[in-house]
Amino acid sequence: MSVRSTTRPDGPDEGRRARFASQYALSSRKLFRRVLRRGQIDELRSAVGADGLITGNSQLQTYECDGLTNFRVMPDAVVLPRTAGEVQAVVRLCARDRIPFVSRGAGTGLSGGALPAAGGIVISLARMNRILKVDLANRQVVVEPGVINAHVTQRVAAQGYFYAPDPSSQSVCTIGGNVAENAGGAHCLKYGFTTTHVLALDVVLPSGELVQLGAPALDAPGYDLAGVFVGSEGTLGVATKITLRIVKRPEVVQTLLAAFDSIQAAGQTVSDIIAARMLPSAMEIMDALSIQAAEAAVHAHYPICKGLLLVELDGPGSEVEELMRAVKELCRNNGAWEIRIAQSERERALVWKGRKAAFAAVGRISPNYIVQDGVIPRTALPRLLDEIERLATAAGLRVANVFHAGDGNLHPLVLYDRAVAGQEEKALELSYRILRLCVDHGGSITGEHGVGKEKQEALGYMFAEPDLATMQLVRCAFDPENIANPDKVFPRPRLCAEKPGPYTPHPLETAGIAEIF
Ligand SMILES: Cc1cc2nc3c(=O)[nH]c(=O)nc-3n(C[C@H](O)[C@H](O)[C@H](O)COP(=O)(O)OP(=O)(O)OC[C@H]3O[C@@H](n4cnc5c(N)ncnc54)[C@H](O)[C@@H]3O)c2cc1C
Repeated sequence: MSVRSTTRPDGPDEGRRARFASQYALSSRKLFRRVLRRGQIDELRSAVGADGLITGNSQLQTYECDGLTNFRVMPDAVVLPRTAGEVQAVVRLCARDRIPFVSRGAGTGLSGGALPAAGGIVISLARMNRILKVDLANRQVVVEPGVINAHVTQRVAAQGYFYAPDPSSQSVCTIGGNVAENAGGAHCLKYGFTTTHVLALDVVLPSGELVQLGAPALDAPGYDLAGVFVGSEGTLGVATKITLRIVKRPEVVQTLLAAFDSIQAAGQTVSDIIAARMLPSAMEIMDALSIQAAEAAVHAHYPICKGLLLVELDGPGSEVEELMRAVKELCRNNGAWEIRIAQSERERALVWKGRKAAFAAVGRISPNYIVQDGVIPRTALPRLLDEIERLATAAGLRVANVFHAGDGNLHPLVLYDRAVAGQEEKALELSYRILRLCVDHGGSITGEHGVGKEKQEALGYMFAEPDLATMQLVRCAFDPENIANPDKVFPRPRLCAEKPGPYTPHPLETAGIAEIF
């Protein structure tokens, strides 16, 4: 989202937040009532073939949530098209009968973006997983949306290239999902987020029309509609073909680990490195809890400390050597008591394995946890970390911190136990307070995981009604019927013709007879 309100609102009031908290906590109750008619199911079958249609309850369960498992909704049907033409046929049916649809890649999203709409269809892009073209001369790769992120690099590695955006979930998540979320990763500090690497897109609009956005050539004339689509979280249509930019592998890559007595000292070192005009390819921080979890999961041989800084530098050998000397000095100045450089590709891979496993590994030290995602200006890092610690202590909860420190992209993991009455609500409250802190420090409510279902209400922390209404105009230009991933991103259900203002439910809604998608 690039439109930023100059008059930042106070955000959702307590009542609204409490309502959301209870919705979140109760969301494991499944919503399920079939709405699709037999005739529509038959049409779907003829669009994608019998082997591309799922309607059985047990199979549908696989699709009832994404990585944010607190929300679960069973779709009426899941389709697995193999071609853009099949996607078009499904979306045309949705447009004709106003059936909501939700695109889905690998379902690793952490904000509920791929949560189905009740009575709707999930369009899984899993079978559209071919790398269509590798054009090394122009440094481009053309892929279908279901291609797994890591497979792009695997395909061009032997020729000395890589695909730079590297979410920690890269061995599973898809390029389509990355495009929809504008996914980031450790190396986006230097190379840029997904949006920097998407040149062109084929998109099936919510009307069923197939259009091309952007162009393989750099700097296409006209509005940057490919830029609008990237990060739109499935609300503007279905990406069916994506042209990606690939990057030449640098001559040398070196990875440093530095152990500090506090996470604040590690954070200060990050600010100092950037202030010294260096741009490492990655800078990550882990605190004691996340180190403990990662060690238990993958034995990365991290030093056991309160703040672990991981810095990766790449480029020509002589430059990397020089910069590494400067980085080490800044680490020492901030009290690093152990500094290690990975001595082999194997060691380097192990360092990254620990970092990338950190989210999942936290499951070893807590029965439940919320993965939060916020952004702050790098200079606010030490101060904000103090504040998070203070809030966590006040709430009586533990927070593990693991984050892309170079981008100021925090991932506080709020640990709780659902079995303890009231603890889930407390954890949600705390994670929302952390987001509020990020915004108060000039940051954002999401760095890379998106708004989805989870943070609809928090969007109001950053944007006032006129901003939201402007964004809504963009959405309505693509999807006037509001059928593409409805009831996501925006703070409350809105229809395209709806005027901003307090929401008054329709009597049919109140009676539970109809609902707004
Ligand atoms: C352990 C773990 C680590 C993670 N680390 C990171 C990280 O470092 N950086 C990061 O950015 N994210 C991270 N994530 C979050 C997640 O992996 C990313 O958001 C990823 O981009 C989602 O891809 P997916 O294929 O799983 O998409 P899904 O979860 O299936 O969908 C995500 C969104 O994309 C939409 N969508 C999917 N395909 C299409 C399409 N073809 N056209 C239009 N819309 C579509 C969906 O409707 C949904 O709104 C992590 C997740 C996990 C579980």
